[in-house]
Amino acid sequence: MKKTQVDISKYRSIVFLTGAGISAASGIRTYRGPEGLWNDETLVRLSDGETFRSDPLDVWKFWSESRAICAAAHPNAAHLALASLEKSLRPDQRMTVITQNIDGLHQRAGNTGVVEFHGSVRRTRCSSDSCDLEPFLDEKLYKDSVPRCPRCGSNLRPDIVLFHEMIPPSNSKAALRALSDCDLFIAIGTSGTVYPANDFVRHAFERRARTVYVNLESLGEVNIYFQEEFLGKAEELVPLLLGGGIPAEGGSITMRELPGAL
Ligand code: NAD
Repeated sequence: MKKTQVDISKYRSIVFLTGAGISAASGIRTYRGPEGLWNDETLVRLSDGETFRSDPLDVWKFWSESRAICAAAHPNAAHLALASLEKSLRPDQRMTVITQNIDGLHQRAGNTGVVEFHGSVRRTRCSSDSCDLEPFLDEKLYKDSVPRCPRCGSNLRPDIVLFHEMIPPSNSKAALRALSDCDLFIAIGTSGTVYPANDFVRHAFERRARTVYVNLESLGEVNIYFQEEFLGKAEELVPLLLGGGIPAEGGSITMRELPGAL
């Protein structure tokens, strides 16, 4: 039977963009999609940078819960497939995982080339821009009081990008550097609606990369820069796509060409 597979040996500079869908099978809920949390008003409020300024303890309570959930979660088959791919590359091949996730599961699976575009809930940092305290790995849960910076006394905060906040320039630079010579771009488990990450495929497309979308739900005509779409669960699809191949009659897996292929 004919199988569809991405033959990684053909590519030199591979970029994966991952979103919440890749971690759904690890028990971390997505914002959008069938099981999505997006409409939860509390979640929206506690994910806003403005709320941290007015109610830092509420924000800490919420993100402490998220920290505990992420710490208890385990990388799933999709994370593990990306980690084993990185280990199998030739010296002339490079792979970067740009993730919008804050759960740390790519690193825990074993990937080293990871850009945590929206930061990490595993780290804590000072809320003052002028303080030189480095973000640090922190397992503590702050539910009773807001922790203070040992250097300057300002509030400490989770090292994540909240709504209405800028992406740290170093994250943008690292992502754009990876995309600058990319010849294969695969987005996994992202709704493709969160700017600026949803624009990365355009960078890759303009560099003539092959562009592939892997998700539970179709992208529709939202983004014209993807050439191929594979629909199914990331934890089932990614190991097949990068490993043994997807059977032509893929069961719950659907493949189709997108506008970028024309
Ligand atoms: P999203 O929540 O907007 O979209 C998730 C997408 O994943 C949806 O399109 C959904 O159809 C798809 N999906 C759900 N289950 C899937 C599965 N098993 N396999 C494949 N696809 C699946 O996520 P987003 O676009 O990544 O961005 C929203 C923001 O939410 C991000 O900035 C991210 O920081 C944050 N977020 C992170 C986590 C995490 O760290 N795990 C979880 C929730 C939200």
